[in-house]
Amino acid sequence: MKAVHLLAVPVLVCLSLLGLGGAPGCASGPAPHPPELPADAESPPRPLAAAQLPADGVEPLRYHLELSIDPRQETFAGRGTIEIRVLRRTRRFFLHAAEMKSLSLQVEQGGRAQPATVGRVSREVAAADPGRIAVELSQPLEPGTARLHAVWQAPFDAHLSGLYRASEAGRWYAYTQFEVADARKAFPCFDEPRFKTPFEIALTVPATMDAASNAPVASVESQEGGFKTVHFEPTAKLPTYLVAFYVGDGDVVEGPKAPVPVHGFAAKGKGPLLEEALTMHAELIAELERYFDLPFPFPKLDAVAVLEFAAGAMENAGLITYREELLLIDPKHTSEKRRRQVAAVIAHELAHQYFGDLVTLAWWDDLWLNESFATWMEYELFRLWHPEWHPEIQRVEDRAYAMRADALPTARPIRRPAQTLGEIEQNFDGIVYSKGAAVLHMLSRWIGPERFQAGLRRYMRAHAYGSATAEDLFAALGEASGEAVRQVARPFIETPGVPEVEAKLICGEGPPRLRLKRRRYLPLGLDAPERDAAAPWWIPVCWAAPSGEGVARGCVLLDRDTKEVELEGVAGCPAWVHPNASESGYYYWALPGPALAALAEGVRDPASRAGLVQQAEAALDSGRLLPGAYLDFLGALASSEDPRDVGRAVDAVGRMVRIWPQLKHDRRFQRWVRDHFESRGRDLGLDPKPDEPEEVRELRPRLMVLLARVGRAPWALEGIAARARRWLEDPESLAPEVLPAYLSTAAAEGRIAFETLRKALEGRLTPPVRVAVLGALGALPEGGGMDEALALLLGDAIRKQDLFYVLGPMMGDVERLPHFFGWLKGSWRALVAKMPGFGGRAEVRLPALIGSFCDEAGRDEARAFFDTIAIEGSERAYAEGLARAGHCIAVRRHGDADLARWLSRIEAAK
Ligand SMILES: [Zn+2]
Repeated sequence: MKAVHLLAVPVLVCLSLLGLGGAPGCASGPAPHPPELPADAESPPRPLAAAQLPADGVEPLRYHLELSIDPRQETFAGRGTIEIRVLRRTRRFFLHAAEMKSLSLQVEQGGRAQPATVGRVSREVAAADPGRIAVELSQPLEPGTARLHAVWQAPFDAHLSGLYRASEAGRWYAYTQFEVADARKAFPCFDEPRFKTPFEIALTVPATMDAASNAPVASVESQEGGFKTVHFEPTAKLPTYLVAFYVGDGDVVEGPKAPVPVHGFAAKGKGPLLEEALTMHAELIAELERYFDLPFPFPKLDAVAVLEFAAGAMENAGLITYREELLLIDPKHTSEKRRRQVAAVIAHELAHQYFGDLVTLAWWDDLWLNESFATWMEYELFRLWHPEWHPEIQRVEDRAYAMRADALPTARPIRRPAQTLGEIEQNFDGIVYSKGAAVLHMLSRWIGPERFQAGLRRYMRAHAYGSATAEDLFAALGEASGEAVRQVARPFIETPGVPEVEAKLICGEGPPRLRLKRRRYLPLGLDAPERDAAAPWWIPVCWAAPSGEGVARGCVLLDRDTKEVELEGVAGCPAWVHPNASESGYYYWALPGPALAALAEGVRDPASRAGLVQQAEAALDSGRLLPGAYLDFLGALASSEDPRDVGRAVDAVGRMVRIWPQLKHDRRFQRWVRDHFESRGRDLGLDPKPDEPEEVRELRPRLMVLLARVGRAPWALEGIAARARRWLEDPESLAPEVLPAYLSTAAAEGRIAFETLRKALEGRLTPPVRVAVLGALGALPEGGGMDEALALLLGDAIRKQDLFYVLGPMMGDVERLPHFFGWLKGSWRALVAKMPGFGGRAEVRLPALIGSFCDEAGRDEARAFFDTIAIEGSERAYAEGLARAGHCIAVRRHGDADLARWLSRIEAAK
């Protein structure tokens, strides 16, 4: 599944909730030796989790399901038979069926049928595994096979999980979202990933509608009363969470026929926007087949653009669902950057067809096997498919997100136990996606990409159409490489935290050397004494340094606290050394100040450059670097030739304003921003020019927003406002890459009224334009439309799935946060009633909001509120939010005096 970050909306100077994380720490003193791991330690067999069905009961062998789905109605109906294997003589066994209006069951064995009653389970079991039911019989079942017949009726779900419906322009559609455990809302089942069986599915739907499921259509039968029954071929063995249906009155588009036939489904009128994405699917499937040397695991692929979707996308086998804006490409209104994001989501979901669908996790504690791999595969596929997109930059940027979260004391390991459904749902976080991907990348570069690929091929073949665990993967990679993969991987996978490697270049007698020191990174303000004790990692450290005309590289396994390595192939003392070549390693590094400056001057490869600001930011966050020196570093970066460097400096300045909001109103700082960024901005101009390099197009909106909103450059502010207003008259007048930023800036500066935006939202907007308008609604100022936008949010004008496009900018804006929070307290119930989410409970994500506060008063007020309402299942999000707030407050306190001195100094220098 592709998760949607709380604040996925690009908003300039408002940093995202998730973007304000920790950074490295300077724990001093020697770290103890890492625990020695026996070379071939197998994990002991894991006891069943509370949410798992007993191992000695009944197992499914095959499902035959017939559902009647008419999305115009409020309920749907089903009947079906599950072939089961009975493992021991019993009168009682368990399965799942949730929120059904009616359910009747019958069990047949040896030609004799008997009715079954639905019994209750204990309160503890119901809490861990909501929807588990007991099937109770008067005559015992004997070991062997049997058949369970079921007839049921259920409502379409109201919170976008299970089987649910949505409408647009009077037409209705039904969709499914079963991960993690909501298939039980659509049909009775054994709703656990270790049970993989074939499914034979038939859907009876209105004759005018289309129906799709995991397998190709086998036959269509007309029914009386304007209905038809669509029979699908039996599926390959699947777990319940990957089963899917689509029923709708929309457009169907035929895409490429090879390597497998690809079709697209979208709401009426949006079919043409599917074309580009369908081609991407076919090209990426071909890349995957080559990478794994295995044919695509399913006979066809459908891509469905879903009107309302709680997550981002879902990898149902052979039938991938996407929220509209992550699939539909409107050639005129989609920026190149957005296209690449769409392609990345498609790559992620297609990678899952192998990682997750073909080889499935045995239980959710190995969720990372799904998500880390699918995320890592996005970069790997792009590297093969479109290397000019520089996926390595995205990789380094995603890693930053993981490292910030991972440095907090609330961080969890990548691989983590999951006892209850609530815990499983909380496990879909940035660590599982991005840290997992970063660690896999590090492993692949350490053992070598070819051997890594060989290991993955071995793993895929060994477990195809079955299940596997992390141990199976380590074994396959170890066999393919002959390296101690398990020893290196496990501390990264099984313990939280970010390593920091201090590096010092030593020149003198003999060849140059690098002295390395290992420790745990600790951000400021976190009271975690137990955590600065151990640095349990064996870190593959790869270095780079100039050598003649080229760059020499080498790797060493840092398996103790200090090590010295000779820079092989480097003659004389190099001008610079990079202690994390191409930023492939999952660690922060520290260099003495002048060495950092020399590196910034010398290193050229895009991934390494992407890491420079992150490493400096980590130093700021750990107190190793003070804000004045950090801003000087950003000021120097702003004059870089590379537009991407300038963009990073822009973003980093935005983050400083988030920590110290008074900077935005400080004339000295405003002038500093203009001094460092304005001439570049004027050279670029407000309007994109034909044939500009992509990195220039991406820089423009960020730079202009900084100049307008922080630099207060009148030409930027007026120019943006004029362009936004003109766009309202002429929707073709703004290029897609500047539209969201310009519209939001004009709204934030009070240059576009709420009513204008509300009316714009009523039009037939393509998805990227709708998202831009929603973001602008979220940017409206206090007393200038913000309250009206919040009121609109709770009505029907804004879809459930779109709430966060409006909420995100408000939650991320430290200045409007208190006002927003006041609204939140008063509208809590109404907001929760509208929110989508896992199992229908997205309010569990809201307490993370406390992490947006960077002052004690705000944080404490929010704490008082969340402590009173105590939302079950939100404990992790809340604890992490509190840690973020505490960290931000500490960074601010640590740097206040230095920032004041720096401001005086830049004034005096004028
Ligand atoms: Zn995923």
